[in-house]
Amino acid sequence: MPSLVYTNVDDVPKIHAELKQSFQTGKTRDIAFRKEQLAQLAWLLKDNTERFAEALQADMHRPSIESDLLDVGASISEAVDAYNNVAKWAKTEKARWTLNFFTMRPAIRKEPKGIVLIIAPFNFPVLLLLGHLASALAAGNTVVLKPSELTTATSQLIAELVPKYLDPDVVRVVNGDIPVVTKLLELPWDHILYTGNARVAKIVCAAAAKHLTPVTTELGGKSPVIIDPRCDLKLAARRILWGKMSNAGQVCVAPDYVLVPREAQDALVDALVETYKSFYPEDPAKSESFSRIVTQAHTTRIKRIIDGTRGKVVVGGEVDVEERYVAPTIIRDVPLDDTTMEDEIFGPVLPIVPVADFDEAIAVINAHEHPLSLYVFTQDAALKEKVFAHTQSGGALANEVLVHVGATGLPFGGIGPSGSGSLTGKHGFDTFTHMRATLDSPWYVDLVMKGRYPPYTPEKVAT
Ligand code: NAD
Repeated sequence: MPSLVYTNVDDVPKIHAELKQSFQTGKTRDIAFRKEQLAQLAWLLKDNTERFAEALQADMHRPSIESDLLDVGASISEAVDAYNNVAKWAKTEKARWTLNFFTMRPAIRKEPKGIVLIIAPFNFPVLLLLGHLASALAAGNTVVLKPSELTTATSQLIAELVPKYLDPDVVRVVNGDIPVVTKLLELPWDHILYTGNARVAKIVCAAAAKHLTPVTTELGGKSPVIIDPRCDLKLAARRILWGKMSNAGQVCVAPDYVLVPREAQDALVDALVETYKSFYPEDPAKSESFSRIVTQAHTTRIKRIIDGTRGKVVVGGEVDVEERYVAPTIIRDVPLDDTTMEDEIFGPVLPIVPVADFDEAIAVINAHEHPLSLYVFTQDAALKEKVFAHTQSGGALANEVLVHVGATGLPFGGIGPSGSGSLTGKHGFDTFTHMRATLDSPWYVDLVMKGRYPPYTPEKVAT
């Protein structure tokens, strides 16, 4: 595995100071400059698609189709979308016309926040860093990128490519582990975007609070699936298993567990097993279409979940910690107090929890923290609405999984414990933008508003 060169902790304040200074020169306020940087970002990704695929293969044995589709391709889309729309997004917006204020021409200026820190996790190390960079650049900020130290090949590649393609006065990469992040978090940023787990999010938010720095958190959680037995179970099985096994389950919006009315469990399991055989006709350990777990420590964590289950393992269950391999695993008859139901699994393990009916399924979801995504498979519009209306989650999809992350125009983000704030496209631009309220009041306003000035005589109070 290629080694990752860590940034010297003592250099971190200097990098921050340089980016702050270059922000203050105003160079990032120019839309043409932003577009040039966004074009460069798109070229960085396009020119090096193969190198990214190789790096992701080295880090996680990631199939190149998943890297192209879900990581690099999605980042290119973000950069191109921002390039095409930044002029429109950044345009000053007139406030709604009102009789009282129209003469003052109230308007919202879309201003960059300033100097932004983006901290990314290992599972989509390109999209969650460079995809979101597109939004921060479009909004006119200067940016420090902190890749995950767990994906050494990809993070090293990012450190090599960013200075070649992007203006170093505007974007810098800082690599390292906890001491480096701790140093970064001591500094006063104008915005922090943290993507990762909730435990570290609390550390980030506590550090940010010392400077009253706004933070966007993109976290995870247990994203449930509810099955209506009358739905097309084969289609549901195909989509669920694809969503669960992509990147070996290391996807923040992966279906975490499935809730199915008890009488339909056998039929669902049959459909899942049939799909499993079609996805992995040979031993999945030899499949080029299946990733590895990012580290041995995470592999051990998932092994503990499988070893502790009280459900019945239908397929999979094998773990090779040394090889960071966890077989795609389906477990049925899972009780609610099972090891698989404690925390976000973040691995290729699909527990199926039989319930009495939809009402119990909704109750189970509401007994957990608000998840990042929720999926329901049904053709019954009333049932879909019932699930959407009686639960809370970052996103809610019917008859699909995962794809909302790339759906143009939709905000991506969690709610409460699964995150706050929204990203991608215009939503990402807005996250990194200060909506500055402005107006310009002409002299004649005082002809009608002179009553505001003291002394507050009885005549003034009466009018
Ligand atoms: P990770 O271990 O790569 O850590 C993420 C970042 O936090 C890294 O850059 C790391 O350097 C930093 N970090 C780790 N420990 C730290 C500490 N003690 N202090 C300060 N910084 C620290 O990745 P992870 O957190 O395990 O990522 C997986 C989690 O992220 C899952 O819960 C997943 O659901 C979530 N996730 C969310 C999204 C989203 O967009 N909502 C996307 C991907 C992953």
